[in-house]
Amino acid sequence: MRAQIIGMITPVMAMMFCAGFLLLWKRGNLGNYVLGFAGAYFFFTLGFVVTHLLDTGSPYVFHITQFFYTLSVGCAVWGMSRRVDQPPYLGALLVVYGLSAVTLAIAIVLSPDLFARLIIVNTGYGVMYVIAVMSLLNSHRREAIDKAIIAMQIILAAQFMIRPMLTLLVEGSVMADVYRESLYYSVLNLSLAIISLASAMVLVAACIYDHVAAVRERAEMDLLTGLRTRRAFEQDAVAYMERAKQEGVPVSLVVADIDHFKTVNDVFGHQIGDNAIAAFGDVIRGTIRDSDIAGRIGGEEFCILAWNCEGAAAVAMAERVRRRFGSSQIDGMPADQRLTASFGIAGRREGEGYGRLFGRSDASLYAAKQGGRDRCVHDKSMLGGENVTEIDQGGRRAATA
Ligand code: GH3
Ligand code: MG
Ligand code: MG
Repeated sequence: MRAQIIGMITPVMAMMFCAGFLLLWKRGNLGNYVLGFAGAYFFFTLGFVVTHLLDTGSPYVFHITQFFYTLSVGCAVWGMSRRVDQPPYLGALLVVYGLSAVTLAIAIVLSPDLFARLIIVNTGYGVMYVIAVMSLLNSHRREAIDKAIIAMQIILAAQFMIRPMLTLLVEGSVMADVYRESLYYSVLNLSLAIISLASAMVLVAACIYDHVAAVRERAEMDLLTGLRTRRAFEQDAVAYMERAKQEGVPVSLVVADIDHFKTVNDVFGHQIGDNAIAAFGDVIRGTIRDSDIAGRIGGEEFCILAWNCEGAAAVAMAERVRRRFGSSQIDGMPADQRLTASFGIAGRREGEGYGRLFGRSDASLYAAKQGGRDRCVHDKSMLGGENVTEIDQGGRRAATA
């Protein structure tokens, strides 16, 4: 009786984790991957209860537990892979399950000793966790929590491959009728309790981490354009500038402002004005590289920090944004009407911080507005030469101020 009660601690704990993951999924605004974690603990509970309650002498009990544990591993691998946008290799898991189930059936026929059966099923789970590690390693995400998940899977794989060998080496052989009194069974139960608890803690931590990251991202994102808000952009830009200084990487800053925007609002209305702002955001997102950052720093003013980019390359990038926006059709505006924008560009000078760089880009933007709008202007940090060099609409060098 006492053993039965102690034996129920792990499944009760696992069902609580299952419920906890369902709650996190429903309330935490997280992806469906959390359902994979809930499923893993649900099937783990079924597998555990089957091993604990069914007659271990029955030839089917190993097949039934193997079926539920495999579903459990499959759900966990699906959830973890999906969380980092990697394929879960479910086909490979199925092949491992199939091979393992067939070998198990042969072992059941050949030997009354449980030794071979235990090694076969455990090795199967071990290989499945190796597959999980391979899937997770393909992802570029390597935050501390991602590393913790990978480390946990390596421990799980090792646990399933090494534990049965070691215990059975000590014990020699295990017969079905004394299975629950065996050293193997005690070590297994203790081991499952510890790893299911540790895994749940790592996975819960991952869910909380993802939730906090999503909340932060939403707070830092401008809803109209999907770019950073001014505060978030400035914070990140300062950090990028610091990194650029330390690593000696060139950075350039582009400041852009839509031309005659007041007129757009006056003539077409505020909603169409908003569409134009959103269209500018789309053009920026579609033009910059993943390593660059961009933000909406005012009503219709935008900023791009181009990483590892200087001189003509930065001017060319701004030119691309200018041309693409200049040919974009704005929702709600007449088909033949186009808007334009002006751009100021400057490159980071030795020892310069974000404030001074922004000041020089903004001065170039002012020059672009003064020069007639719909153009890119950069200062001498970009291509050398005169104080302000202007690029005209065709991208040619038009004037020097
Ligand atoms: P310029 O070519 O010199 O830039 O002229 P402009 O008319 O664009 O002048 P300015 O940059 O000063 O105008 C900004 C206008 O943008 C003023 C404000 O009414 C409008 N605005 C600011 N935020 C928003 C917004 O979120 N939506 C809309 N529709 N308009 C906005
Ligand atoms: Mg404007
Ligand atoms: Mg403005």
